[in-house]
Amino acid sequence: MTEDPARTGTAAYEIQRLLRPDLRGRTPYGAPQLDVPVRLNTNESSYPVPEAIVRAVMAALEDDVRGLNRYPDREFTDLRKALTAYLARQAGVDVTPEQVWAGNGSNEVLAHLVQAFGGPGRTALGFTPSYSMHPIITETLGARWVDGLRAAGTFELTATAAAEQASAHDPSIVFLCSPNNPTGTALPFAVIEAVLAAAPDAVVVVDEAYAEFARPGTRSALTLLPGNPRLVVTRTMSKAFAFAGGRLGYLVADPELIDALRLVRLPYHLSTPTQTIARVALEHADLLLATVETIKAQRDRIVASLAGLGLAPVPSDANFVLFGGLADAHATWQDLLDAGVLVRDVGIAHHLRVTAGTPDETTAFLAAMTRLAAAHRLDPAPADPTITGAHG
Ligand code: PMP
Repeated sequence: MTEDPARTGTAAYEIQRLLRPDLRGRTPYGAPQLDVPVRLNTNESSYPVPEAIVRAVMAALEDDVRGLNRYPDREFTDLRKALTAYLARQAGVDVTPEQVWAGNGSNEVLAHLVQAFGGPGRTALGFTPSYSMHPIITETLGARWVDGLRAAGTFELTATAAAEQASAHDPSIVFLCSPNNPTGTALPFAVIEAVLAAAPDAVVVVDEAYAEFARPGTRSALTLLPGNPRLVVTRTMSKAFAFAGGRLGYLVADPELIDALRLVRLPYHLSTPTQTIARVALEHADLLLATVETIKAQRDRIVASLAGLGLAPVPSDANFVLFGGLADAHATWQDLLDAGVLVRDVGIAHHLRVTAGTPDETTAFLAAMTRLAAAHRLDPAPADPTITGAHG
């Protein structure tokens, strides 16, 4: 808006007057989309879609386009089958198509969950810092958000601390994020079990957007689904699948919970091309996931190199690294940008987050950080970083 919203008679004033009072003054989600040589700020994959998949998608889309006079399959049946086949292969879990729900990115399936189980008069709990859209989705859909706490300094969340907070706030929804964005670490499994027990009236959502990057031995919450009808695991094709532009996220839960989501989704929310593109991509899952090991190696290289520079990287199970030990995180962010490297200022004092890109992009980032480290390092590192804004 260019006008001063305080001036009566202006369009800005009128819109502010008409807007829901609880939305006035809010800022929208806004990771910068800047055209710089090295973009490592939104945890996308740096690898383009392989040519074989481009050709397969284009061939499949030709038939779709002829049939665009008709609405898409409202139940996205073939896509659900493709997702179950993928989960059986990648996570070794046996789920039925009736247990799978999908949307335009996992943000949309998260919104469906809040629409169905949150909403006005209800509370959602998450553990800060975590993915910034969990509170945004909660509050813009009219529910109350409670910022649960992690251990100061380490960002750890123990089962005891999580259970205490879950039982204190009587939430309708609890958001867990594993591996957590922006800190990068997977949750101990006991946290999920403790929260399920401590919040008997809550749907417990485990956001596993980065699950495919987890270090060996990390168990997926998908294995906890049998016998837990209040548990939901959300995933996405935006990260490991290198498919952020395709906009396909999904969740897995009890068929009864999935059925409830039909009450809130807009009819035909997944377009025919979206369903086809995602289905064909899933048929080529091995090819799309081929870069995961390379990305994990770059992540581990970032952790080791930043520690070597005297900075404080947080151990990561994701395709990004949160690192602390900076005197002024925003100044470092700006100097990196001036060097052509875009990373993310997630609003945690003294910390920045960087996505693990290609080996060359990682080299460019580390070269810039090596040049900047001495001037930007905070000595000594703070024990309790203050969290000032949006995360993830
Ligand atoms: N969950 C987490 C933890 C994320 O970091 C993101 C994206 N940054 C999402 C969900 C949403 O991703 P998408 O809508 O692209 O699936």
